[in-house]
Amino acid sequence: MHPFELIRATDVTQAIQGAAKNSTAQQGAQIRFVAGGTTLIDLMKLNVEQPQTVIDINGLPLDKVEALPDGGLKIGAVVRNSDLAYHPAVVRDYPVLSQALLSGASAQLRNMATTGGNLLQRTRCVYFRDTATPCNKREPGTGCSAIGAFNRTLAILGTSERCIATNPSDMNVALAALEATIHIQGINGERSVPIDEFFLLPGDTPHRENVLEPGELITFVTLPPLSAGSKSVYLKLRDRASYEFALASAAVVANVQQGKIARIRIALGGVGTKPWRSVEAEKALDGQTANEEQFRTAAETALRNARPQSENGFKVELAKRCLVRALKLATRTA
Ligand SMILES: Cc1cc2nc3c(=O)[nH]c(=O)nc-3n(C[C@H](O)[C@H](O)[C@H](O)COP(=O)(O)OP(=O)(O)OC[C@H]3O[C@@H](n4cnc5c(N)ncnc54)[C@H](O)[C@@H]3O)c2cc1C
Ligand code: SF4
Repeated sequence: MHPFELIRATDVTQAIQGAAKNSTAQQGAQIRFVAGGTTLIDLMKLNVEQPQTVIDINGLPLDKVEALPDGGLKIGAVVRNSDLAYHPAVVRDYPVLSQALLSGASAQLRNMATTGGNLLQRTRCVYFRDTATPCNKREPGTGCSAIGAFNRTLAILGTSERCIATNPSDMNVALAALEATIHIQGINGERSVPIDEFFLLPGDTPHRENVLEPGELITFVTLPPLSAGSKSVYLKLRDRASYEFALASAAVVANVQQGKIARIRIALGGVGTKPWRSVEAEKALDGQTANEEQFRTAAETALRNARPQSENGFKVELAKRCLVRALKLATRTA
C-alpha cells in the first residue's frame, strides 16, 4: 500500500475543505474520505486506489437515524449498515431496506460499513481490482478486459462498449425502489439528488460513477413515507446463501387495493451498471390485477433491453424469475 496521510475530521466543514483540493471526486482522487473502510482500504491494498490523504469521517455527527415530520426517515451517512438494518423504524416501515442490508456481506462487515460508503462501493469486476489488466474504469482509455472474457457476474442493463461492470450494492437497490434522496454538502453549499440521478451510466466515462464533485460529502439519505398498506420485499439470488454478491436481485414496494395494484416501485440489482429502477415494469403493472401473468409481463418489460455478454446470458431469465417471485411476495395478502 502506498504511504498516505490520515486526517481525523471533527466537523463537516473541515472534512469538505480538506477534500475540496481534489481535482476529482471519482476514480484516482488524491484525497479520499474513509468511513468503514471496507471498500477503500481493500482497494488501497490492491493499489487500485492510491490517495495521498485519507480523511476519516467517523467522528462526524452523521450517525443518527431520525423520523421526519412527514413520516419519512433521515439516515446519517456514517450510520452502520447493521444499526440501520435493525433500527425499529426500518424493520417496521421499510423492510425492503432491512432485508437488503442483511443480505449483504457478513455480520462483521455490516458492523463496519456505513450508509455513505455502501452507496459508493465499487464494482467487483475482477479486472478493475487487478492493476495488471486494462480497465477503462480504473485507467480511462486502456480498454475493457471483461468484454468477451470473464463476465459471468457483470451487467446486462445499462452497459456500454467501454464498461459492463455491475453496481454490486444490495442497499442501493432497496433505496432505488424507495425513491431515496441523497443529501450532499460541498464548499458551495448543500444539494439534494434523487437516487436515480445520483448514479451515472458508464457511457464513454466509466471512471465517473456518480455526480459527486471534489470535496462533496454525502451527509444524509432521506426516505419518503410509504402510503398506508404498502408492503416491501428484497429478494437476492446468488451462488451461495451468504457472503456473496447478487447475480440478480429485486426490490419491490407495492400497494394493492382490492386485488389491483394501486402503486408499485421496482428496482433490480446484480444486472445493472447502476441500481436499476424499472419505471417501464411499474407502468406495466399500474392498475392491473396482481397475478402471475401480469408479473411475468412486467418482468419481460423490465429485461427487454438486456444485452447479455459472453458468459452472463443466464441472468436475463434469472432476473425475470427473481422479479416475478419478489412481486408475488410483495403483493400477497395472507
Ligand atoms: C468480502 C466482502 C463481501 C461483500 N459483500 C457485499 C454484498 O453481498 N452486498 C453488498 O451490498 N455489499 C457487499 N460488500 C461491500 C460492502 O457493503 C461495502 O464495502 C461497504 O458498504 C462500504 O462501506 P464503508 O463505510 O466501509 O465504505 P468505505 O470503504 O469507507 O468508503 C467507500 C467509498 O465511499 C467514499 N465515502 C464513504 N463515505 C462517504 C461520504 N459520506 N461522502 C462521500 N464519500 C464517502 C470513500 O471515499 C470511498 O471511496 C462486501 C464487501 C466485502 C469486503
Ligand atoms: S467491465 Fe468496467 S470495470 Fe470491468 S474491466 Fe471493463 S471497464 Fe473495467
